[in-house]
Amino acid sequence: MLFRTKKEIEEMKASSECTSCPVLTRCRTLAEHHMSLADYDKQLPKLLTEEETARILTQAEELIQWTDAVKDYALKCALTGVRYPGWKVVKKNTKRRFTDETAVAERVIEAGLDPFEKKLLSVSAMEKQLGKEKFDKLLLDLTEKPEGKMELAPVTDTRAEVLIGGEG
Ligand code: SF4
Repeated sequence: MLFRTKKEIEEMKASSECTSCPVLTRCRTLAEHHMSLADYDKQLPKLLTEEETARILTQAEELIQWTDAVKDYALKCALTGVRYPGWKVVKKNTKRRFTDETAVAERVIEAGLDPFEKKLLSVSAMEKQLGKEKFDKLLLDLTEKPEGKMELAPVTDTRAEVLIGGEG
């Protein structure tokens, strides 16, 4: 259902307003905005500036969210019988699973085998089991938090910025 007139949509520029728009999966303005990423091709052989790369990063994030929304929308339509040229509905691959774990365990035990694997609890589960005070006393020196790999994130991300090259 369109909530704007065709003329209004044609005059609109794709913006953050789009994320809550009911027609975002079918809007041509938004599609053209995302497809404009391809325009960077035409700027060869010059190298991209940092500002252009930043714009591509931002647009790529938006593109991923938009394509996910379009995929969900297209699947819903395909499940009602809409056909998309070159595409078909398939079932995702799944792994086998037991239908009744208790019955499985009982049968394997009856057969004289151990159906269980022993695994150490995760750090969080262990802390929950022992309580924080006991956990700290017993296991703090055996606990570490590995360094996370570097990644780019938008400035709105809540994590602290890593200052590179002695900045600050
Ligand atoms: S998706 Fe964005 S540009 Fe398209 S109609 Fe909605 S708000 Fe406007």
